[in-house]
Amino acid sequence: MKTHYDYIIIGTGAGGGTIAQILADSGKSILILERGKFLPQEKENWDSVAVFGEERYHTKEVWKDKNGESIHPGTGYWVGGNTKVYGAALFRLREKDFEEIQHCAGVSPSWPIKYKDFEKFYDKAEKLYDVHGKSGEDPTEPFRSEPFPFEAVLDEPRIADIRTALKNYGLKPFDIPLGIKLNERNPLESQCIKCDTCDGFPCLIHAKADADINCIRPIMKKENVNLLTEAMAERLLTNDEGNKIVGVETYLQNEKQIFSAETVIVSCGAINSALLFLKSANEKHPNGLANKSDQVGRNFMKHQNAAMLAISTKENRTKFQKTLAVTDFYFGDEDFEFPMGTVQLMGKSNRYMLKDDAPIFTPGKFLDEMSQHSVDWWFTGEDLPDYENRVLWNKGQVQLNYTENNEDGFNRLIKKFSKILTEIEDEIKFLPENINISKKIPLAGVAHQVGTLRFGDNPETSVLDINCKTHEIDNLYVVDGSFFPSSGAVNPSLTIIANAIRVGEYLKNLI
Ligand SMILES: Cc1cc2nc3c(=O)[nH]c(=O)nc-3n(C[C@H](O)[C@H](O)[C@H](O)COP(=O)(O)OP(=O)(O)OC[C@H]3O[C@@H](n4cnc5c(N)ncnc54)[C@H](O)[C@@H]3O)c2cc1C
Ligand code: SF4
Repeated sequence: MKTHYDYIIIGTGAGGGTIAQILADSGKSILILERGKFLPQEKENWDSVAVFGEERYHTKEVWKDKNGESIHPGTGYWVGGNTKVYGAALFRLREKDFEEIQHCAGVSPSWPIKYKDFEKFYDKAEKLYDVHGKSGEDPTEPFRSEPFPFEAVLDEPRIADIRTALKNYGLKPFDIPLGIKLNERNPLESQCIKCDTCDGFPCLIHAKADADINCIRPIMKKENVNLLTEAMAERLLTNDEGNKIVGVETYLQNEKQIFSAETVIVSCGAINSALLFLKSANEKHPNGLANKSDQVGRNFMKHQNAAMLAISTKENRTKFQKTLAVTDFYFGDEDFEFPMGTVQLMGKSNRYMLKDDAPIFTPGKFLDEMSQHSVDWWFTGEDLPDYENRVLWNKGQVQLNYTENNEDGFNRLIKKFSKILTEIEDEIKFLPENINISKKIPLAGVAHQVGTLRFGDNPETSVLDINCKTHEIDNLYVVDGSFFPSSGAVNPSLTIIANAIRVGEYLKNLI
């Protein structure tokens, strides 16, 4: 097998899959190393018991938290990475998210490049991932130079009623930008069937725009592209001077093999990329690769996320529920001058998803009733980068030291929105807030992991430069969620994708 390439890309998620797609037409030889397999297309893809109850598509790894307690991380290793199960809500960060923002609990730092530098890459990202949406409704939406590639996904009747009621209340609900292969005008041409097993599930019929379907499969048969699955990058090896990666130690179906490339692009997800850097410590890089700044693995962020089932007496027969979001309080409100976050609908809950949070003897029928009468909301708040919130490789054990911060605005957001739901002029009102089931997502919910190898101008406070090349190693780049200096309060994937396109085009221009 050929062992030397122009590019090695490690990981095929939102970052790695996207940059592979961008570099594929460069004519250069590309080796893609992915530790997972292709996610099997099987009936269990849409089975709530298998997906939520048995966590069929999650890793079985056990990590530790700062107190040594076990964490069963809600993440998976597949071609396409976590985009295989994502909700495909593909938001742009707001313009102000790229600037320094004062939060209640501290400062969210500014980015070394700004929204205007990202804008054209967001356009390209939306095209690559089939994004449906409508501009002009989201009160905090950043400027855009091109319309959404596809029109917004329609609400089902119950959600349309709630949208009208929220508007009458004075809010500005808007369409969630969604990456799905849907054609509502001509259903015969539509791959997507708008089902109730999307957010958190793999798509059985491959109608979700994920990094596997939209990026890897279209290029994997090209002559210059070699995709190896079950290929786990274990260590990066440097030359004696420590300024060039000369080998990627890989376990290919458990057999060790060394590959090399002119340029190595790491994209294992924010936690695993930091781990790879830490595991690769050597004489020139005693604290982990490119870690003179002592920033590798630090500033780990994952958002504050919470799910809330708002119960009403009216039945909710919605199948595809994830169509509406509210950012009216993103930057605060009249009673609170600091950012609070985003509210959006999530996939429709069912009894199997509620089971873990209900008392053990709760009858399934009762859980069915609850889920049939709930409208399910997802709240996201910004967590601030904290030097002590970090990923560690502790004697062969993955450790996540994380302490929640900046919760005040987020908690207010949940309270405020729950109250609004009881006040809106809906045909059947929501029941009092204290009936709602609300659950803060624990540390194991690392879906929105970012920030462990942040980019910046200053090598003393960042790991990557503005092109996402490490300050210390000339041929080493990172394009997953690690580069975020702050997390904003919208889902991260579109920004990861846009950045991977930006870096991919930069690399192509170097040729
Ligand atoms: C249930 C769920 C719902 C979500 N919904 C949304 C949403 O609606 N909108 C949104 O924007 N985001 C959503 N997300 C988050 C989104 O999936 C992630 O932000 C995104 O996938 C991160 O991209 P990434 O490239 O950083 O990492 P990943 O997508 O995680 O990709 C990392 C890749 O690297 C591979 N890998 C890891 N280590 C190694 C190694 N050592 N060697 C080789 N390969 C390796 C992994 O197998 C994987 O393929 C969701 C996530 C989950 C879990
Ligand atoms: S809603 Fe569409 S994209 Fe999502 S799982 Fe169902 S068919 Fe697939």
